[in-house]
Amino acid sequence: MESLSVRCNHCGAPLQVSDATRFVTCQFCQSSLEVKRTDSSIFTEEVAKIAENTGKMAESLEVIALQNEIEKLDREWGIEQMNSMVPSRRGPRPPGNPWFGLAFTIFFAAVCFSMASRISSARVPGIFFFVPVGMGLFALFAGISGVFKGETRKAAQTSYQQRRTELEHQLATLRSK
Ligand SMILES: [Zn+2]
Repeated sequence: MESLSVRCNHCGAPLQVSDATRFVTCQFCQSSLEVKRTDSSIFTEEVAKIAENTGKMAESLEVIALQNEIEKLDREWGIEQMNSMVPSRRGPRPPGNPWFGLAFTIFFAAVCFSMASRISSARVPGIFFFVPVGMGLFALFAGISGVFKGETRKAAQTSYQQRRTELEHQLATLRSK
């Protein structure tokens, strides 16, 4: 076996290794070294350092993965926000308070129903009675479904915020290492 001369990557001491050696311990500083070869050179690298670098790389990959996940979450939430906005002439606007909408539609329905009852007491038959009743019922339905949609949105927002906080926390833990 051919004996090769290399230098310790940690303390610079000359070491003799055989050409088949992959790992060697420096006799002077006790560093664990990996013998690396290229076509034109031979050198050593501290094993502890390699492990450290690998660990750091794995951690930074994890950081990138977390950042990507947060970005994706934000993007999806942004799309959902856009979709739930009410289109109007001045551009999309966020939906108003659904409870206020419900209060208004109840008021509107009450006006419709009182109109219907006055029509009914005036003994005008048919469509003159059903139009305000229909409008009142439609308004009530719209108001109630608005409240349901509002509650669903609130729940979606809560779960988005929880997930985001969780990811941010994981990221902060990883970075503080
Ligand atoms: Zn050494």
